[in-house]
Amino acid sequence: MFGEGILKGLAETARNFLGSYVSKKRLTTVQYPEERLPQIEAYRNFPFLVYDGEDWQQGLRCVSCFICEKECPPKCIFIEKSTDKKPDAVGKPQFYPTVFNIDVSVCMSCQICVEVCPFDAIKMDTDFELSTDNRFSGLLWDKKHLAKSNEHYHKIHPTEAAVVDAQLAAERAKVAAKAKAAAEAKPAAAPATPPPVPAATEK
Ligand code: SF4
Ligand code: SF4
Repeated sequence: MFGEGILKGLAETARNFLGSYVSKKRLTTVQYPEERLPQIEAYRNFPFLVYDGEDWQQGLRCVSCFICEKECPPKCIFIEKSTDKKPDAVGKPQFYPTVFNIDVSVCMSCQICVEVCPFDAIKMDTDFELSTDNRFSGLLWDKKHLAKSNEHYHKIHPTEAAVVDAQLAAERAKVAAKAKAAAEAKPAAAPATPPPVPAATEK
């Protein structure tokens, strides 16, 4: 029927308006910032870099592969790669970013960087209280600002983070099994040659 959608919308508004006098559940607004609505798990704002363990520098999962930088539509990611390597999230030696910046004044929260990252190193954060008094340096986030723990990831996206953890654990087990098999396949080291016995001296 023509206009059915409009009538349904108006009926929902009326139900919320009248219902809000008897039930808080019908209130569609809250007294922010004292009151806050719970965020849904799929909510996203700007990206952050995930790290494992206590040390954010050592634990950053990013291996500086540049895929996100290349794929970011407005080109707001800037990365510089290290010259040395450190173990990644599954224990393989990998490069890491010495510089990882995101200009969030340009970022459009599209999540493409997250979708293309093969290392589950970059995820979308839910923080929206980001006001700053400097629209240039205040909105250019470096890797220290971007680094957030895996615990934070679990807190904001628990379902997704649990899946990623399971995948990483499976990969870690594979890497460990491969290393064990390689160590077992190595031929046993030849026994050390005993030092020559000094000849007895005549008196
Ligand atoms: S969310 Fe989109 S715009 Fe923002 S850094 Fe990622 S790819 Fe770029
Ligand atoms: S965040 Fe992911 S895609 Fe981007 S450079 Fe790091 S590992 Fe590569």
